[in-house]
Amino acid sequence: MSRRRQRPSFLPNAADAGARAAEMLARVKGEARDLPGVYEMRAADGEIIYVGKSKKLRTRLLSYFRAVYPADKGARILREAAEVQWEYVPSEFASLLEELKRIKRYRPRHNVAGKRDARHFAFIRVARGAAESFRVVRGAGNDEGGTFFGPFHGATQLEEALRELNDALGLRDCALDLPMHFADQHDLFAAPRTPGCIRHEIGKCLGPCAGGVRRDEYAARFALARAFLEGANDVPVAGLRRAMDEAAGQLEFERAATLRDKIGRLDSLRAQFARLRFAVESLSFVYTPSAVHGDDMSYVIRRGRVRAAMPLPRTADARRAFDAAVTAIFAPVERTDGTVPSHEIDELLLVTSWFTRFPKEMERATAFAPAPSTRSA
Ligand code: SF4
Repeated sequence: MSRRRQRPSFLPNAADAGARAAEMLARVKGEARDLPGVYEMRAADGEIIYVGKSKKLRTRLLSYFRAVYPADKGARILREAAEVQWEYVPSEFASLLEELKRIKRYRPRHNVAGKRDARHFAFIRVARGAAESFRVVRGAGNDEGGTFFGPFHGATQLEEALRELNDALGLRDCALDLPMHFADQHDLFAAPRTPGCIRHEIGKCLGPCAGGVRRDEYAARFALARAFLEGANDVPVAGLRRAMDEAAGQLEFERAATLRDKIGRLDSLRAQFARLRFAVESLSFVYTPSAVHGDDMSYVIRRGRVRAAMPLPRTADARRAFDAAVTAIFAPVERTDGTVPSHEIDELLLVTSWFTRFPKEMERATAFAPAPSTRSA
């Protein structure tokens, strides 16, 4: 019979915890060096309970043993830890990447992945359901396989812009668990529905909660909003402009004026989104941070994601192999619809945060230049 694992079953008593902490402290004092690196705190049963990084590993590890209050995060981790292991890496940038990789792999219970880098950037998430909607989020959360637009600078301004977009196109922004009732959804014995909020009555929501719109009409309006966020074409504005012309042609001047106002708001929104959007496209290059320890590593970064890490080539042959690998990474045409797969969000946040915090590091980035073709035309 399988025994159910009780999370803190290995928790040592105070005396054991004290003895283990003393052992770990002695090891850190005797062996750890102030170099960039990652470390893992392990419980007595081998579970990795925390992964951390530092550009000065020894200083960081010693700080755990100075935690004063029992409720301090460091003190809590140390109480459960039986062992600390560490590994040096060439640079602080490498330590951030390695920490993220290990957090994703082990999901240690004392880590909150991505939180640090998510402070300054936000994304728009497509929330699925009977009537799709947009939400402003700081990271992917648990939405594996979800659709995200971003990153954008400043969650507050992004929320305001998104509210405008929802209002302009009549999209819902209410709680996700609110039931929807489309106009073409025939419920037996159903009483007339009352909208869940005032937005339908004041013309800012199509009212999918109260039979105010057919399912396909709402889906078409949502598709307009997505096309707008993708920035690929003028579909939302063009669609509204056609509807405005039709309304004017049928002498529905009030409706035409409402559509004209929506078009004006979308036009100014487009500029606002462009201002907020972080220029991910510009984060495409080969970046070689200064190595503090070991060999220099070069990171091939395309659209804000690290696609490969390779030692900086030192010989002509190594350079040719390196260039071929870089060319292979940059050659395929990639989507440019502004969406980001959820599994790439944490790394995108890491890279954007790094170059935002340390803009001078861009001086160590080399633009990708394909080798000149040797074939004649
Ligand atoms: S009118 Fe209904 S669907 Fe629209 S935001 Fe309000 S509650 Fe949601």
